[in-house]
Amino acid sequence: MIILKSPEEIDRIRRAGRITAAAVEELMEAVKPGMSTADLDDVAEKRIRGAGAIPSFKGYRGFPATICTSLNNEVVHGIPSQKRLLVEGDLLSLDVGAVWEGYHGDSAVTVFVGSPPSDVAEKLVRVTEDSLEAGIAQLKIGGRLSDVGHAVQQVAEGAGFSVVRDYAGHGVGRALHEDPQISNYGEPGRGPVIKPGLVVAIEPMVNVGTWRTRVLADRWTVVTADGELSAHFEHTIAITDDGPEIVTARSSN
Ligand code: MG
Ligand code: MG
Repeated sequence: MIILKSPEEIDRIRRAGRITAAAVEELMEAVKPGMSTADLDDVAEKRIRGAGAIPSFKGYRGFPATICTSLNNEVVHGIPSQKRLLVEGDLLSLDVGAVWEGYHGDSAVTVFVGSPPSDVAEKLVRVTEDSLEAGIAQLKIGGRLSDVGHAVQQVAEGAGFSVVRDYAGHGVGRALHEDPQISNYGEPGRGPVIKPGLVVAIEPMVNVGTWRTRVLADRWTVVTADGELSAHFEHTIAITDDGPEIVTARSSN
């Protein structure tokens, strides 16, 4: 069942979204060779709790950390670790969620540790972010939700990459994951009609090689089936009477 949020609820989601975005920005600035992914987790947890919010992911179905840190061939849900030190050229996806007064924001970015290791890695990150923007551009009142995934797929596959099919965007707000599920591929003109009060997380995961994935023995970390690189970008968007509003927008890029 799709839960449409009241303007008062959207105000709280805005606040959660701003806190989430601030944590993402602080992480992007903090990333450097030699630090561990657990160090990054500490940065995000302090930022979120310092703003009076709670990490959405910690304890979610037993997830042990504040953020997901997914490196190189890891797609999503990587677990921060003191043992994993960042090295120059790593491609790092950071996924952050914060809950403020019971309402969630959810956002992800992919960055390089230092310089991109290859032209294809650099292109992958740019195209994945472009695909998110193309998806968000379809969140027009009166449109249909499958228009989003169709636009994402066009951009990603048009650049020669593939779109992960095993994981999708979702409604968000009162819970981290709500209906509807929003696939990153498929035919346009289907699914629920986009209307004010809808709040969604759009999150394309784009791979250099096959779209197929598998889950590691830790039962969380999702990796590409062929070991090739993957990137992930996500924003939380509220549909208001004035149209879509990216509540996790960052002040600098
Ligand atoms: Mg997320
Ligand atoms: Mg999400």
